[in-house]
Amino acid sequence: MKGNAKHYDKLREYLETVPLVDCHDHTISCGPKYADPINVVVSGYFVSDLHSASCDSEIKIIQNSKLSVEERWPVLEKAWKRSCHTGYGQVTKLVLKKFYGEDKLTLDALKRMESNLLNLEEEKTFEDILNQANIAVRLENIYHHEDFGASIKAILDGSGKLSPRARLVIPLPCFHGALNLNYGLVQNIASSVDKTVTSLDEYLNVCREIFEGYKRFDAVAFKDQSGYTRSLEYGNPTRAEAEKVFNWFMSDPRRSVSYPDGVKDLDDYLFHEFMRMARDMDLPVQIHTGHMAGIRNDIVKTNAVGLRSVIELHPDVRFDLFHANWPYSGELLFMGKNYPNVTIDFCWANIIDPIYCQNIFRQALSSVPHGKIHGYGSDFSGQADRAWAHASIARDNIAIALSDMVEMEYLSFDEAKQVGYDWLFGNANKFFRLNL
Ligand SMILES: [Zn+2]
Repeated sequence: MKGNAKHYDKLREYLETVPLVDCHDHTISCGPKYADPINVVVSGYFVSDLHSASCDSEIKIIQNSKLSVEERWPVLEKAWKRSCHTGYGQVTKLVLKKFYGEDKLTLDALKRMESNLLNLEEEKTFEDILNQANIAVRLENIYHHEDFGASIKAILDGSGKLSPRARLVIPLPCFHGALNLNYGLVQNIASSVDKTVTSLDEYLNVCREIFEGYKRFDAVAFKDQSGYTRSLEYGNPTRAEAEKVFNWFMSDPRRSVSYPDGVKDLDDYLFHEFMRMARDMDLPVQIHTGHMAGIRNDIVKTNAVGLRSVIELHPDVRFDLFHANWPYSGELLFMGKNYPNVTIDFCWANIIDPIYCQNIFRQALSSVPHGKIHGYGSDFSGQADRAWAHASIARDNIAIALSDMVEMEYLSFDEAKQVGYDWLFGNANKFFRLNL
């Protein structure tokens, strides 16, 4: 992408030199090793746009690596022609051009790619790409659902190896509901600190011990994406109401409460307790708002305005609202402007919808204090190739927005450079206390 404003080129060139704080990512380890050229095209989020542009049966064919490239190509080509201009499509095009020298997605291009597919399991290749994107540090939101307790233990005893440039965030949803809290999960979580839990008090103590362990291991924030499965409108139930739910399933290991309604009082109560711990530990809380990965989810439940009560009840907790609350830009600007304890985070959003971000970057400059904006977060699992493309698009979006504002004589070119630096690096460095 390119801006039309007079100062665009110079500003874009400058932003290339600004290191990035990658405010949100899910890389457990370096990878993948691509085995199939179609996988290069459809991995990451773009599969959702292909799905949206085709149908359930066709997306299965596109993703079936047991079929040959030739067998899948006609189905992929049809969906590609209907979806290639989205932000995710732009990521794919940038990856094809940069890492494979291909200008267009064709069957011939896919055949040529087969012989030189990226192996991102090689740490050197992975790091090289992070260097090219000038990514200085990455806030990693990682967890294993299969044995959550074991994955916590690996963090706390230092045996789990982190991916390059990672700083951990504490994955909150698993502790208060999203994994369907029951006797088994409570004891699995407790096993990570060699404890058994018999009451709500003991469970809260276990959680606090785990979170403090993460902090000793340099965790810089909490992260919560419960919006995938529940409304962000947390109630404020009493301890007795929460304890009733907890005691009911703990008194019989075979019981499970229905999700989300049956567990809601406990889920809401624990969430508020965790906010108090975040306050006491002085760690910010990153919250998923707006659009969700995949398709056919319900956007109403994830609008950031649903968090009003949480944000007002916990004025000493710093909330970092994710994904620019796409597509609810007005509500997001209000939250950023209205609450001292709210910052706006554009992680993932820059590729969900580049034009939305360019518009909101412009509007945020005129409405939200510019020290409260975090401009980039790659939000992939591995896939440094896509993180590189995403970084390029984020820099384009910010350069386009700010150079437009310079053209309007809203601010000077030097001021725009400073804002760009703060949005990509300075603000997040201070907010997460990264000391870079
Ligand atoms: Zn994410």
